[in-house]
Amino acid sequence: MPDSADPRPLSERPLEELVACPECDLLMHRQPVEEEHKACCPRCGYEIIVHRAHMERRALALVLTALMLYVPANFLPIMKLNLLGQTTQDTIWSGVLGLYHSGMDGVAVLVFLCSMVIPLLKLLCQLVVLLCIRWQVMQGLGLYLYRLYHHMREWGMLEVYLMGILVSIVKLIDMADLHLGIGLACFIGLLLSQVWLEVTMSPHQVWDSLDAGGHASESA
Ligand SMILES: [Zn+2]
Repeated sequence: MPDSADPRPLSERPLEELVACPECDLLMHRQPVEEEHKACCPRCGYEIIVHRAHMERRALALVLTALMLYVPANFLPIMKLNLLGQTTQDTIWSGVLGLYHSGMDGVAVLVFLCSMVIPLLKLLCQLVVLLCIRWQVMQGLGLYLYRLYHHMREWGMLEVYLMGILVSIVKLIDMADLHLGIGLACFIGLLLSQVWLEVTMSPHQVWDSLDAGGHASESA
């Protein structure tokens, strides 16, 4: 991010004109970034600001796609297993119940939280935040939910769950007659739309849109 031609030192500039690199703490003058452009830290190369065109509309489409995939991904069969004449169908929900009934209550609760509850809460937070930005209403609630979303980010572990499913498929494929279910396709779709949503929903644009009212009143 090149520095401005403005000769004032950083200490004399208002806070909203400054930006700090989250990676190496370098303080810089904040430059306007054009659509589909990004600003990177000149010291460590971290992507500080990225401006996505039509961010809310694209992110809303992705969050709705992810929410529509959520139910089939969790409740439709991930795989159908035929072993010694016995056929079983497994879903993510039946996996949680199976852990619970085999006495691993703690693991069942952890899997339930990290693979079902937190991913759903994250998506609902993102949906409400995007609607607050779109309709310019309840921005205080939007700020609160976006902060909450950042706290939950590390706890949604769909990738880990997918890795577990892939490992079990590789292990079981030689031992039993294995058929992959529609639930697995929905689960992969859910994971991909979540990753795409995270890339599309530029944090700086979200914070700026939610905080626009607050900044206006502060600088007045
Ligand atoms: Zn940096």
